[in-house]
Amino acid sequence: MIDSLNPEQQSAVTLPAQHALVLAGAGSGKTRVLTTRMAWLIQTHQASPYGLMAVTFTNKSAREMLTRLTALLPINARGMWVGTFHGLCNRLLRAHYRDAGLPQTFQILDSADQLAAIKRLIKGAGIDDDKFPPRDVQRFINGAKEEGQRPGDVDAWDAYRRRLVEIYGLYQAQCEREGVVDFAELLLRAYELLQRNAPIREHYQRRFRHILVDEFQDTNSLQYRWLTLLAAGGACIFAVGDDDQSIYAFRGANVGNMADFERDYARGNVIRLEQNYRSYGHILDSANALIAHNAARLGKNLWTEQGEGEPVRVIEQPSDQLEAQWIIDEIRALIHDGSERREIAVLYRSNAQSRIIEHGLFSAGIPYKVYGGLRFFERQEVKHALAYLRLMDNPHDDTSWLRVVNFPARGIGARTLEQLSDAARQQDFSLFRAVPFVAGKGGANLARFADLVQQMAHEAQVLSLPELIEHVIHHSGLLSHYQADRDGAERLENLRELVNAAAAFVAEENFEGLPAGRIPEWAIDLSPALDRSPAAATPDPVASSGAVAQTPAVAPGDSAENGFPGVSMSPLAAFLAHASLEAGDNQAQAGQDAVQLMTVHAAKGLEFDAVFITGVEDGLFPHENSLLEAAGLEEERRLMYVAITRARARLYLTLAQSRMLHGQTRYALRSRFLDEIPDEHLKWLTPKAGRTSVRENTWSGAFRRGDAYNRPDSGSVAPREPRYQTSGVVVGDKQFRIGTGVRHAKFGEGTVIALSGTGEDAQARIQFREAGTKTLALGIARLDIVA
Ligand code: ATP
Ligand code: MG
Repeated sequence: MIDSLNPEQQSAVTLPAQHALVLAGAGSGKTRVLTTRMAWLIQTHQASPYGLMAVTFTNKSAREMLTRLTALLPINARGMWVGTFHGLCNRLLRAHYRDAGLPQTFQILDSADQLAAIKRLIKGAGIDDDKFPPRDVQRFINGAKEEGQRPGDVDAWDAYRRRLVEIYGLYQAQCEREGVVDFAELLLRAYELLQRNAPIREHYQRRFRHILVDEFQDTNSLQYRWLTLLAAGGACIFAVGDDDQSIYAFRGANVGNMADFERDYARGNVIRLEQNYRSYGHILDSANALIAHNAARLGKNLWTEQGEGEPVRVIEQPSDQLEAQWIIDEIRALIHDGSERREIAVLYRSNAQSRIIEHGLFSAGIPYKVYGGLRFFERQEVKHALAYLRLMDNPHDDTSWLRVVNFPARGIGARTLEQLSDAARQQDFSLFRAVPFVAGKGGANLARFADLVQQMAHEAQVLSLPELIEHVIHHSGLLSHYQADRDGAERLENLRELVNAAAAFVAEENFEGLPAGRIPEWAIDLSPALDRSPAAATPDPVASSGAVAQTPAVAPGDSAENGFPGVSMSPLAAFLAHASLEAGDNQAQAGQDAVQLMTVHAAKGLEFDAVFITGVEDGLFPHENSLLEAAGLEEERRLMYVAITRARARLYLTLAQSRMLHGQTRYALRSRFLDEIPDEHLKWLTPKAGRTSVRENTWSGAFRRGDAYNRPDSGSVAPREPRYQTSGVVVGDKQFRIGTGVRHAKFGEGTVIALSGTGEDAQARIQFREAGTKTLALGIARLDIVA
């Protein structure tokens, strides 16, 4: 098992049972070491599969880890605690919902649901949403939760903050009433559960002897506290990470956890890996050279034995359309030359970039799969169907109620809903319970809707999950609604995929033959046992235990060794949790050989033979929001480092001189990151006017055999484009470019950071030294250019 590893990797895998940190760069085998250590601990009987917990960053990587593990060892990995922080916390809360103060059927709000809930609250409470924009409120609440703070714990030093704290309190009360939890709440609840409930805490502290954490650099403070609390009973934390790949600071990740962990736990037990097994030399050296521009680093060295490979190809196109077209043509050529589609990835900095590439791939008939972005489960029609399902599970979920109470239309207008909300507020009821308080025709329509929900809940007791979903699509009226809609075909297609996804889920989770709403007999809830006799419920983690002895049946695939029943959810509840937590996989497409599209953030930890990094332009990558502070620029650089290091053999950096974003044409210079990579690693390809033919520059060296460019239509030699030849915007006698210094009579001096439109319609985004960022129409604003 460990023979194929290098000596440093081997020593990490076979470390004695103590806390340890593996600090190493991209592609050095951190994830492989972590997985192998799990297998090794099991094989050498230092731990049972159920005495291990492994935390990964995405569901995709959790699945991959289990696959790799079962390839190494003939064990049944079902029921093992391998998952994301959110997934594991969800599991904990499902098992101990009562102790956590949650209804058994609690629903998870994703961030869009959460925002909708906050908007509703702000409106209902008559709060001024100009002063308290819902998005800011959301950020505030999540920030507080990530620091482990309840409303009473937040330091409110002025009136504005006091009000925010009040809103936080109202929001929390609303969530309690509706039986819903947001993502941050999953973590905080699970943390508080362990902290406050000694029997449960001790049970898990005894059970998990080894806690392994991948992508440790992106944990936030609460996650860190959760881990160390779980480990406080003597478990060992094995953390692997790379400070250069810390890319979630904007969401509260704290790269300082690495230094803290080293100081407080893993002192003297830090292993560094320096050999990269993923990428060829040109790719790796580009990444190394780029990241060397960051000042805040723990410092690492990476080398490869693989030889230098092909240089990194850079392509500049006049427009985003042509950029996309170029990429599609190239992908087609790669596939023609024998590449597998799933080994080709197109990465982008911002989700808005994906549409045009998706469109191109679709037109070209190339199968593709989008991760992240508008995930399958976030599509409007899918969310509608899920809202019906959620109401069946929990009719007090007001967010879902409001989403579908009048969709498809059933004569329930804004006035009726207002009456309903008022009644609910007065009685402190959910909307569902408040229905009898609304009189008149609106009230009758509401009652009919409430009946529909109850009827469906009834069906859930007899139909299987896929049958139930079909039933819902039909009886809710969604089917006829979308059939009547001219553009409804695609939405119906997605609804069909939802049924498929449910069928796949049922098969995967061994729920076959079970009605959707029924909790399987083999899923026994442990929390009552804990309540009654704490001693019996804190068993030795390996030997079968008191708690297990009370378990009449054991889940298929769930071992008595588990010491803990894995599931206490009905298929319906489990599927709903899955839909909220699933990080962007379209189940129905899983397994298909498809080109992979995703944001750079979503690509962390993954690798592909060929990678396209698109939109390598200043303002986009690095993103303009980050350009104003040094810390922001360093985070963007780490993000580019992550992007580059995803590629094994081939890397393309593509950029466009103009781009439609959010309905506006924007002009940009190429990314400063391109200038931070030494020329010797880059090969510039210049496109000929037209679509498919590509020119090759003389200076960039010979073709490799089979090179996708070595096609009959390769044009003649063209000189390398001059740098920064992107045109700016000319208004009157003045020419504005990004970086142009300007003076405005009122706002003072500033710098142009983005341009859009042409001529009299041209606009500039200007960062003023004192007045902040403004967008001005260049034809109207009187601007002087300053040197
Ligand atoms: P990242 O920082 O991007 O998450 P990582 O450090 O986790 O990267 P892995 O994904 O574990 O790196 O490994 C990168 C690639 O190198 C994988 O394909 C892995 O199988 C391979 N690899 C790792 N170690 C070895 C080894 N000793 N011999 C051969 N291949 C290896
Ligand atoms: Mg990894």
